[in-house]
Amino acid sequence: VKAERRGGSGVFSLAHETTIRSERLLENALREADLEAELDVQFQPIVNIDAMTVVGVEALARWTSPKLGRVPTDSFIAMAERTGLIHSITLTLFRKALERALCLPGHIGLSFNLSANDITSPATIKSLLQAIHHGAIAPDRITFELTETALLRDVDAAERALRELRRLRVKVALDDFGTGYSSLSYLRRLAPDKIKIDKSFAADLDSISGRNIVTAIAGLCNNMGLECVFEGIESYDQLAKIHAFGYHFAQGYLFARPMLMPAFLTWLERDALRDLRLSARVPGGA
Ligand code: C2E
Ligand code: MG
Ligand code: MG
Ligand code: MG
Repeated sequence: VKAERRGGSGVFSLAHETTIRSERLLENALREADLEAELDVQFQPIVNIDAMTVVGVEALARWTSPKLGRVPTDSFIAMAERTGLIHSITLTLFRKALERALCLPGHIGLSFNLSANDITSPATIKSLLQAIHHGAIAPDRITFELTETALLRDVDAAERALRELRRLRVKVALDDFGTGYSSLSYLRRLAPDKIKIDKSFAADLDSISGRNIVTAIAGLCNNMGLECVFEGIESYDQLAKIHAFGYHFAQGYLFARPMLMPAFLTWLERDALRDLRLSARVPGGA
């Protein structure tokens, strides 16, 4: 019995040690990374599903480490937050995103994700504003995406940062809406320009409760004049449903996966949404 118990906890601590070791590998690789060379951004279209046209792109961070290969974005962003590397990572990514976005048509907006640490750091906000100032993208084409959790960690700091961003006419979106402690009072206080419905809701459109929530959020957004993007749309069926529930904007693999800018431009050129536009299977179509 004793041996068994020791064996049991041994397995646990082995898994635990493996986690610690891989965390340390990740941390070291990130500290040693040549950010300029190893980081890049991919772009995923944000689609107006009434007209089936591209209205924006979301820049998504990608890190390819010479030692570890491609590291999942959530993992290295979380590590960057824990180690304080996020400031330089955010700025490197944002400058790259701005530069790449220069070749986009002027009607296409650029969305960029910020982390909680970014929004509570006056130095980061200042550098972001400077980058916008020196860049060639009109500030009102730029949207910063922030999760509720990021905004709620320090509401006063978040409010201050949002005020500064807004002075430049930059827009703010509440990302992963519905997964945090979304309180309507914060929705009023932070007054985002846009909301992004978390992709977990796309997977729950058939249950009565899922459908009711999603319909209520659409009503709320439409009444408040809030632009609302539905994330994680992967099928025609989901697209038809969210359109019927009152959504006008969506993002997801059905339209396109995130791509590096050259591939994205080819995709745009090819007018890949044409098939969807002409399809009788979808509401925006013929
Ligand atoms: P997010 O901002 O909610 O981004 C959407 C995520 O969903 C992206 O994952 C995207 O690739 C993925 N996605 C898009 N369409 C679909 C779909 O149809 N189905 C499914 N299952 N997934 C889809 P990714 O690129 O791994 O990014 C994960 C998260 O990492 C992002 O979630 C965002 O919170 C964060 N992130 C990404 N880039 C940055 C960045 O530059 N800075 C910061 N601070 N965070 C970033
Ligand atoms: Mg986002
Ligand atoms: Mg999201
Ligand atoms: Mg997310």
